[in-house]
Amino acid sequence: MNEYDSNRIYDVVKEIGFKKTEILSEATCYLLNTCHIRDKAKEKVYHEIGRLKKNFRLKQKPIVIVAGCVAQAENEEMLKREPYIDFVIGPQAYHKLNNKIQEYLKKQKRLDETEFDAISKFSFLKNIKNSSKKVSSFLTIQEGCDKFCHFCVVPYTRGPEFSRSFNEIVKEAKILVDNGVREIILLGQNVNAYENKNFRLSDLIFEIEKIPKISRIRYTTSHPKDMTDDLINLYKVSKKLMPLVHLPVQSGSDKILKLMNRKHLISDYLKVYERLKEINSEIEFSSDFIVGYPGESENDFNDTLNLVEKIKFINSFSFIFSPRPGTVASKLETIDREISLKRLEKIQQKLFNHQINKNKSLEKRVIDVLVENKTKESSKFFGRSEHMTPVIFDGNNDEVGKIVKVQIIKSNQNTLFGKVIRKSKLRVA
Ligand code: SAM
Ligand code: SF4
Repeated sequence: MNEYDSNRIYDVVKEIGFKKTEILSEATCYLLNTCHIRDKAKEKVYHEIGRLKKNFRLKQKPIVIVAGCVAQAENEEMLKREPYIDFVIGPQAYHKLNNKIQEYLKKQKRLDETEFDAISKFSFLKNIKNSSKKVSSFLTIQEGCDKFCHFCVVPYTRGPEFSRSFNEIVKEAKILVDNGVREIILLGQNVNAYENKNFRLSDLIFEIEKIPKISRIRYTTSHPKDMTDDLINLYKVSKKLMPLVHLPVQSGSDKILKLMNRKHLISDYLKVYERLKEINSEIEFSSDFIVGYPGESENDFNDTLNLVEKIKFINSFSFIFSPRPGTVASKLETIDREISLKRLEKIQQKLFNHQINKNKSLEKRVIDVLVENKTKESSKFFGRSEHMTPVIFDGNNDEVGKIVKVQIIKSNQNTLFGKVIRKSKLRVA
């Protein structure tokens, strides 16, 4: 979501004449977009500002803005602790950036803009562009969260659940497609909780799928409790919804799920998995895991390992529990760091093995790849499989934005390598 937000921020500040630069010392305005989901984010901000100060020691200082969820959570403290920061702006206020920059330039007075106002943000930010000319684009449809999992800071930094207007999203999808986008990733902290005037995520996907030039649709991140029948059944009929379901489970133990306030059981998760596999056996799952949650016993952790073994998630994120200020879990007694580290290593090894095996199983097979761009380092091209795995292959510029058939020659944990099979060479199997 921060990548999407950063692009929107750029679309906003472009209107008052700012341009992106890769050369730090050239910057007249420096904006740091931050994430607060795990620890160290705050310290990273001060570290980055320290580097910036060094860079500008002998030069005119740029306007320094800290945006995003760290700014939201630490607003006053940041301004107090680091005088080099000129203003902080929260994730629901960046539509006000231009006014704030101008106000700051006029008055030279430091600013704190961290109010929750998702509705006015989206009505202001209606003219999405595809400034970076990408083939695959994020599109935020929902923000915030009302679920209050005990470990998570999102409900406090992004605010309450808000779903954007159905028509606005479809309009934005069309603009993106007109500007060269062929894959849309619908985004939300709780994307499958989307609900606007009785329209649900499934309705949105169904409608966006009708845009002729769009090839692929994905959505992230979902909550298991919101995997409703309409969304599951959409996999039976949709031609463009990709067969990778990113569905964070966090833990394989019902006891830990309850302590986390996740509001579902492992049996519910397995039901979703089995129903989707029945609809299409090519559907794969990926997930997020938290290890070392307060109260997690060796048995609980083994339940998580067993779940990983059963589902064979192909591409997942795993983290050690990080206490976040203001959350219920931040007050609980943490488990030994060494134990958590060992568990993380163990689960990651298992997850990586499944990923390696999945990629290996594709060697010699011909798969559909959406071509995204030429790689910077070589003459090869970059694209992604239906399961979102990066694919590197010989291609040509005309194929960017198109789906090509690629025969996989070799693979490693994260990437597939292959060659494009052009029509004349394709034999019917
Ligand atoms: N809404 C999604 C869900 O319900 O699973 C997750 C969104 S959250 C922004 C992304 C991921 O960050 C979570 O799935 C979780 O694994 C991880 N995460 C969140 N808070 C965490 C914490 N306090 N410690 C470690 N990982 C955390
Ligand atoms: Fe955080 Fe996701 Fe839980 Fe919401 S549902 S509180 S975003 S982990």
